[in-house]
Amino acid sequence: MSDAKIIVHGGAGTIRPRLWAAYRDGAHVAAGIGQQVLNRGGSALDAVIEAVVNMEDNPVFNCGTGSCLTYDGRVECDAFVMTSDLRVGAVSIVTNLRNPVRLARVVMEQTVHHVIAGEATNRLADAHAIEKIDPHALIVDRRRRRWQEMMDRGLEFMVDPELEASDDPADLTDEDAMDTVGACAVDREGRVAVAGSTGGIMLKYPGRVGDTPMPGAGNYAGPAGAVACTGHGEAIMRVCLAKYCYDLLEQGVPVAEAASRSISHLTERVQGFAGLIAIDAHGNRAWATSTPNIPVGIPERVIDDSSGQHPA
Ligand code: ASP
Repeated sequence: MSDAKIIVHGGAGTIRPRLWAAYRDGAHVAAGIGQQVLNRGGSALDAVIEAVVNMEDNPVFNCGTGSCLTYDGRVECDAFVMTSDLRVGAVSIVTNLRNPVRLARVVMEQTVHHVIAGEATNRLADAHAIEKIDPHALIVDRRRRRWQEMMDRGLEFMVDPELEASDDPADLTDEDAMDTVGACAVDREGRVAVAGSTGGIMLKYPGRVGDTPMPGAGNYAGPAGAVACTGHGEAIMRVCLAKYCYDLLEQGVPVAEAASRSISHLTERVQGFAGLIAIDAHGNRAWATSTPNIPVGIPERVIDDSSGQHPA
C-alpha cells in the first residue's frame, strides 16, 4: 500500500496579482477533487482525469473553456494522459469538446494508437459519447480581449523577434498567453498517472501541435513517477523536458532535485521559460519553474508562493 497523493499545476507564466487568487484557489480545488478520488480507493488515472476535468471547466485556466486563441481567433486544444505501465493517449487540435482530456483517455483505452489529431477527434468523440460543445462557448471574454490586444500590437505566433530576444520572462510568458494545466498522482496500489490539457499558446499558428500531447515532451509517467510540464511548448519539446525529469527520478534522484535540475537543463540548453510538477512512486512531490509563477495545488494546504523551486 502506498500513500495516495496528488499535485496539480495551473500553468507556468506571469500571473498578475489581481488574478493570482483565482489561479491559486482553482489549483487547490482541483487537487482536492483528485484527492477525494484517491481517498475513495480510486485509481491515480481517475484522480488526474477528474482534477483536470475540473480545471477544463474553470474559465480561469488555459484549457477547455477559457483556452487561448489561435492566430485566427479560434480554440484548438491538446490533451494527454499516461500511466505507470506506459499506456498513453493524447489528442491534438481538438475544437469542440468540453473536456478534451476525456478523449485522450479514450485514445489510450479504446484505440491501438497513442495520438489522434484534428478532424478525426470528432468522429472518435461521437463514437464514444464524449460531450461536444459549441466552439464559441470555449472562448471567454478575457482571452478574446487579450487576443485582440496582441493582434493590435502586431505580434505573430508568439515568435515575434522582439519577444524572442527579450530577457524578461514576463514578455514571453505574457499574462493570458499560456497557463496549461496538469496533474500527477500515485494511488494506494502504487500506480502512477499524469494528465494534462491546454489551449496551447496565444496567437499560435492554426494546426500547431504543442508539447502537451507529445509523450515525453510535456508529460510523462512510468514506474518511478510522473511529470507534467507547462510553459513555452516549443522550448519544452526541444529538450523533452518531462522525460528528462522522469529519467532522473528513475535514477533515484530525489524529486525536488530532479525538478530543479530539469528546469536548469531547459534554461541552459534552450533558454526556455517553463515549469513542471513531479511526483515519485512514494508520493513525494515537487515543482520548479523558470517563470515568475506557477500555481501549484496540493490538497493539504493552499500554496501562495509558487515561484522558484520547492518540495511540496
Ligand atoms: N505548454 C503549452 C503549449 O505550449 C502552453 C502552456 O503550458 O501554457 O502548448
